Amino acid sequence: MSGSPHVADALKGFGTTIFAEMSALATSTGAINLGQGFPNYDGPAAVLDRAIEEIRGGNNQYPPGPGMPVLRHAIARHQRRFWNLAYDPDSEVLVTAGATEALAGALLGLLNDGDEVVMFEPMYDSYMACVAMARGRAVPVLLRPQTDGRYVFDETELRAAISPRTRAILLNTPHNPTGTVFSRDELECVASLAREHDLVVISDEVYEHLVFDGAVHIPIATLDGMRERTITVSSGGKTFNTTGWKIGWACAPAPLLDAVRTAKQFLPYVNGAPFQPALAAGLDLPDAYYDDLADDLRRKRDLLLAGLQRAGFTTYEPEGTYFITTDIRPLDPHGDGMAFCRQLPHTHGVVAIPNGVFYSAEHAHEGRHLVRFAFCKTIELLNDAVERLCAGAR
Ligand code: PMP
Ligand code: GLN
Repeated sequence: MSGSPHVADALKGFGTTIFAEMSALATSTGAINLGQGFPNYDGPAAVLDRAIEEIRGGNNQYPPGPGMPVLRHAIARHQRRFWNLAYDPDSEVLVTAGATEALAGALLGLLNDGDEVVMFEPMYDSYMACVAMARGRAVPVLLRPQTDGRYVFDETELRAAISPRTRAILLNTPHNPTGTVFSRDELECVASLAREHDLVVISDEVYEHLVFDGAVHIPIATLDGMRERTITVSSGGKTFNTTGWKIGWACAPAPLLDAVRTAKQFLPYVNGAPFQPALAAGLDLPDAYYDDLADDLRRKRDLLLAGLQRAGFTTYEPEGTYFITTDIRPLDPHGDGMAFCRQLPHTHGVVAIPNGVFYSAEHAHEGRHLVRFAFCKTIELLNDAVERLCAGAR
């Protein structure tokens, strides 16, 4: 909660993001940061080298408004190569300051006062804040764990969330923080409601390549009648271990993308010129790069999952993303995830994120006892973290 009297009413409840708070705590305590989702290792050399060459070669001024053609073309090739989706790089692809700006642009560009956006919760924390900034209304639909630990929505609840004021459904698959990769049937359910009620779908697919075992990522735009009503959002951060570069994108039919662009051009306008050709090189890397990325993370998931279980947490096995949600109640009967995460760096030298912040106030109790750990870290660091968590209070 922000205590400042200067903050606008619409933003009063939002305070400081949990990522800023917990990463600062990691820095001040020297704890291992399994909170904010960023790798502690670099991405492919070809991508890094290209950025350095671009800087040295003078690509240091404003790039074009929609993004550099070299990146827009690479994004269009990527969408076709992996998902068989065709987008015109000139009119249907927009480069943004991370997926976050694409999402903000979509919400600010589409919503009128009081328009409703149906979204699944828990959810990435910018969703509700951006809906509030756009003077819309967030309508959350719960994902709940089944007995096998997979988080799912209830179709009746989703249907009931749609009203005459609904403008869009905001989807995130693979899903942060639960790790659910929406199945074709689940996506078809979302799609049929979107078609029936003539809704736009904003689909946040930043973890599109981070799926494990048999799970398959399906962009909702590939379903019947969906390409024309979907804004697909992604980012280079997760796929190329470059979260600090903040280069993302949106793909959509021109009339929808125009709404995003209209808002986006007055946010940062453009960003990250030398990083744009570098990520274009990344997107063109061979399939082996993408396969190795997922394989490597699956091994890390398994290591941390087993370690968290050994430390006494109840775990929810993710099908995708680089996060594991846990239930702390076997370790802490009070089950207050926020208090637990504020203590953990001091008692065990590890930082995690309380899932409670990913829920609306109305459903905060659903996430109160849950804590999220990131496994996009080197094996050595994960082993060290597990050892600390198993060792008991320091
Ligand atoms: N959506 C989700 C679900 C995320 O987890 C993240 C990562 N932080 C983002 C969007 C933001 O991505 P970016 O850093 O590219 O803005
Ligand atoms: N997406 C990352 C996470 O969920 C980082 C988010 C952020 O720093 N805003 O942890």
